[in-house]
Amino acid sequence: MALITETALRAMLRSGIPNPYLVRADDKFTPAAIDFLKGRGIKVEAFQSSDTFSPKCESPIELSIPVGVSNRHVHLSQEDVENLFGVGYQLTPLRPLSQPGQFAAKETVTLLGPKGNIKGVRILGPARGSSQVEISKTDGYTLGIHPPIRVSGSLEGTPGVTLIGPSGFVSLPNGVIVAKCHVHMSDAEARTSGVEDGDNLILQMRGERSLIFPDVTVRVSPRYALDFHIDLDEANAANLSTGDQVHLVGKNGNWFSTTGRW
Ligand SMILES: [Zn+2]
Repeated sequence: MALITETALRAMLRSGIPNPYLVRADDKFTPAAIDFLKGRGIKVEAFQSSDTFSPKCESPIELSIPVGVSNRHVHLSQEDVENLFGVGYQLTPLRPLSQPGQFAAKETVTLLGPKGNIKGVRILGPARGSSQVEISKTDGYTLGIHPPIRVSGSLEGTPGVTLIGPSGFVSLPNGVIVAKCHVHMSDAEARTSGVEDGDNLILQMRGERSLIFPDVTVRVSPRYALDFHIDLDEANAANLSTGDQVHLVGKNGNWFSTTGRW
């Protein structure tokens, strides 16, 4: 049995509370915790024990999703490419990334924060509208900045950092995030696995550090290739490396009947 408190629920707010919120049948809530969930329209559903999940929806197939671990990296606007590497400079593709058209560039920069610096941070191309820096929470401690967990492009209210290149430096006023883990999927893959753009997937990693990722947003597009993107902290917590597989075991808070037991 666990006692679920308002404080514990508040701590979950930053990463998002699943709706419905699954608890064991003998878990207890404090009155403040009940009000907290009611006030946010979050339903509570109980399961009896870990081996008697009640299946809520069907998945036509069990889908395995390859893992892509993202180390810290930088996306640059063309203006910042030129500030760091010189007027008219173009990024040099080093190797393609899993998503079509994206590449890791030969070029790297140094990140400089109030507490320290990290050298050799890879730039991903092509250049985009505005510069964005994606680091892990652990990197944040090294640099002395503590960015929020955000989806790519959601930069309002984020901290900045200084980028140092061979021909100059750029002090970004904002644009540093810890990337929220997400799945990319093609239309065809989404159809065969019963998933729609924006669904929150439940992914299970089976191994020495078996872990459930209960709330992973999926982005569906014909230009995407199937991939589960996590950062280095998440990869280490789950003992995952690029190319490993995780399993789709449910979506939107409900476990699939074929795979929801363990
Ligand atoms: Zn991604």
